This record gives sequence, C-alpha cells and structure tokens, in this order.
Amino acid sequence: MKEKKNGHFFHFLISHAKTYGFVFPSSEIYGGLNAVYDYGQYGVELKNNIKEYWWKSMTQIHENIVGLDSSVLMHSNVWKASGHIDKFNEFLIDNKDSKKRYNPEKLIKEYVTFMQKKCSKKMSHSKKNEILSRLDQSFKKNDFSDIRVLIDELNIYDPICGSKNWTNIRPFNMMFKVKEEKGDLFLRPETAQGIFSNFLNIKKSNRMKIPFGIAQIGKSFRNEMIARQFIFRMREFEQMEMQFFILPKEEMKWYEYWKKIRLKWHLELNLGNEKYKLRDHENKLAHYASIGSDIEFHFPFGFREMEGIHSRRDFDLKNHEIFSKKKLRIFCEKNKLESYIPYVIETSLGLDRLFLAIFSSSLKKEKLKNGNQRIVLKIPPYLSPIKAAIFPLVQKDGLPEIAKKIFNDLKIDYRLIYDQKKSIGKLYRRQDAIGTPLCFTIDHDTLKSNTVTMRYRDTMLQKRVHINNISKMIENETGLKNILIKLSKQSINQ
Ligand code: ATP
Repeated sequence: MKEKKNGHFFHFLISHAKTYGFVFPSSEIYGGLNAVYDYGQYGVELKNNIKEYWWKSMTQIHENIVGLDSSVLMHSNVWKASGHIDKFNEFLIDNKDSKKRYNPEKLIKEYVTFMQKKCSKKMSHSKKNEILSRLDQSFKKNDFSDIRVLIDELNIYDPICGSKNWTNIRPFNMMFKVKEEKGDLFLRPETAQGIFSNFLNIKKSNRMKIPFGIAQIGKSFRNEMIARQFIFRMREFEQMEMQFFILPKEEMKWYEYWKKIRLKWHLELNLGNEKYKLRDHENKLAHYASIGSDIEFHFPFGFREMEGIHSRRDFDLKNHEIFSKKKLRIFCEKNKLESYIPYVIETSLGLDRLFLAIFSSSLKKEKLKNGNQRIVLKIPPYLSPIKAAIFPLVQKDGLPEIAKKIFNDLKIDYRLIYDQKKSIGKLYRRQDAIGTPLCFTIDHDTLKSNTVTMRYRDTMLQKRVHINNISKMIENETGLKNILIKLSKQSINQ
C-alpha cells in the first residue's frame, strides 16, 4: 500500500481507530495525556474477544492451567523481593537544548543505521560491528559513562535540533508510586508478581501438581519516558501472562514447548506468517530471566516485541521466600521429606500490542471493480467486534419488522447490529470499516421465500440463505469454537 511506504499508513490507522470508535486519546477534551489511551465501543469488543481467545486457549485447552485475578496494588516488599525497586530502570539521556529525552542505545543504533544506509559517506561493516559490540559490552558492564563517551566520539546530534549538548546517562525507575502515610505503594509493572505471591494459595486450594500454570489478564503500569507509538508503548496497558511451574531439570523442555505453542497460537490468527520473527535473547535479558526469546511482529514502524517467553527459574519464588519468610516449595514426589522451589517458564503478551498487530494488518484500502475504493478491516471473524449486521432493504412493506425480529431472536447469542438509517451500499461500507464479517439483508424476496441475502465482508460475495439458517451461518463463520478445537489438537500431550 502506497501510504505504508510514505509512512502515512500509521496516521491513517490512528485516525481510523478514532473515527470508528476503536481507540481514543485519553482525556482528549483536556488536551490528552501522553501514552494513555481509551478503547471505544468497538475497541472494547475486539479487546474482550482477544482476551477470551487467549483465556480459553490457556485455561480450557490446558487442564493444568488455572486463572487468577490479583490486585494492582500489592505490599511494597513484593517489589523489593522481585528486584523491581532496584533494577527496573530505563537509562535515558536528555538534550539540553531541545529538552528532548532519548534512549541512548536507540540513539546510537539509529545513527549507525543512518550512516550505513542514507549517508553519502557510507560506514563500513567493520566499523558498524565495532560500535555495536562496544555498545553491547558497555551495557553488559553497566558502564554508562563509556556509552556517553561513545555518543561524543561519534558526534551524534539531536535529530530534532542538531545540538550535541547532552546530559549524562541516568537511570529512571519505571514504577509509578502511590503515596501512603506508612510508605509508598507501587502500581504493578507486571501482573506476574500477583501470580508468585498467590502460588501457595492456588497450589493448596486446587491441589495442583507440577507442572502447572497460573494465567492472568490485567492492567500493568510503567512510567515509559519515551512513548511515541500509539498503543504499542503505553503507561497504562494490559498484559496476558502465564507462569508455568516446573521441575528444575525440565527447564529446557518446557521453555521450548511454550516457545513453539505460543508462536503457533499467533500464526493461527492468519495475519501473515512473514510478519513474525522469533528472536532469542543472547544478552540484555530482564533482571529476573535466565533465558528468553521474543515473538516479534511487523508493526507499521517495523519488527518489535509482541510477546516475551522467559525462564525465570526460581528467581521470584526464592526471593519471596527470603522476604516473606514463608516456604514457597513443592515436596518431591518420591521423597516427601525433600522439597524444592520450582522453576518458572513465563509467557507474557501485551494485549494492546496484539490489538495493534491485528488492527494494523487487517486494515486495508481496496479498489473496487467500479473504480471506487472501500476501507475494510479484515479482522479474524472470531475476533470481530460485531459478528453480523441485519438490515431491511427498504423501510416499508414490513421488511423492518422482519429484520428487527431476526435481530431480537439472535442478539443474545451473538453481538449484532441492526441498522436501517442509510442506503444499503452505505450500510455495507460502514460494516466493512468496523470489520463485521457478515451482513444479512431482508428484501422483498424474503416475504415470498423466507430467505435473505448474506454478504461476506472479505469477498463481498452474496448468497441467499434461509432465515432458519442465519444462526448456524454466523456460528460457522465467526465462532471461536473451531479454532480452539484446532489449537487443542496441536497442543503437545503433556
Ligand atoms: P519493550 O522492550 O518493548 O519495552 P519489555 O521487554 O519491557 O518490552 P516485558 O517486560 O517482557 O516487555 O513485558 C511483556 C509484554 O508486555 C511485552 O512483550 C509487551 O507486549 C507488553 N508491554 C510491555 N511494556 C508495554 C507498554 N509500555 N505498553 C504496552 N505493552 C507493553
């Protein structure tokens, strides 16, 4: 698409999301709030459908995974034990003239890319590798003064104002504080700690046996200093996380299992296999992880992380044992006198990032045979906010009454829309724009044959179906069941 090339596609996407009630800037009437967004009437439906798909894939397909809904506020010792108070930092550099804040790693990498691709005096490969490996080494050693020197040596200037007047590189803790008289609380930066702190409760109340998982969907908060990519990087966002507790010696088996299963889950959405990359982390792991990989997606601004799969080993439970003085252990099957702290494999997916992945790869501009253009959102039908629309062709001859009856009979089973306000062409265009997979039109033939016109969103093909078959057609075309059955068959026998 031409807009994509010009970089306009992303603006078009943001505008479409707002015009059609998917995503609004938060507090817009007061000028908005940086990196915070609200989901509108269709956005919330799409989000809920994504959550249902993930939730059922975790807790229904896997008998040994149960759910949890833990609170956002937790005891502040949780964050001491988890390492977030000391280590959950972002390192930033400010330009004193433009007053803009940058991530120093990104600044250097973008400079290198520019020097390699766009600059007239191209940088050699060996120079590029030399810079990137020095950057890597300095990061590993937490040597931020060397990264600062590197920025000076390379003469990197602020891309906005051209100034080289930089501050030192400083750490910022990314957790939001909530002031309390007895000491600060924190808004959770990941849902996982609610899972670790409820590990004993769930194990005991459900008599869970290793291996087992705990899944949770919920809000997380991070004070992202540089957030310029719509809902990709927000300060308040939602995560869908699952912690899988295992025998330490089975770490690699389950790590490989979850990498495979999670990638398959994403590919099943049919957004295009070429849009995914599984990238193993060789270095720069989160402070709690021993091995990790990301499922990256090709967003309108390039490949970026969508989901992380990590082995957290016994990092969290071990530290919670120390801080809480409670035993967070499992007794060995063979020798009940011996106990161990299980290892954990985590899958952590950002709901908003998946929303953006689905929305961006489904939004299309299509040229029609008559020369007109339509905007269509080809969302996987089982995730579409609205499953079907019901229209009368004209507002007379008893057609609206029949259409309304069909709508009322089916509205409890499916999320439907009844509309009669515009011409049929305009009604179809609106449903295309919000991604409704099926439209049913009641016309004069309905009076004679009890049949209606069914129109498919993706192909625009139309066929006649009997009124009694409408429900079955909606179920077949838009139900979640078929995909869950398929995923269930794919999941390896545990
Ligand atoms: P990034 O490197 O992009 O900042 P991360 O490695 O810090 O992400 P994790 O801590 O692994 O992310 O969090 C797990 C998932 O939560 C991410 O894969 C992403 O989908 C989502 N996520 C993390 N931060 C944000 C954010 N600020 N806004 C939206 N989603 C986020």
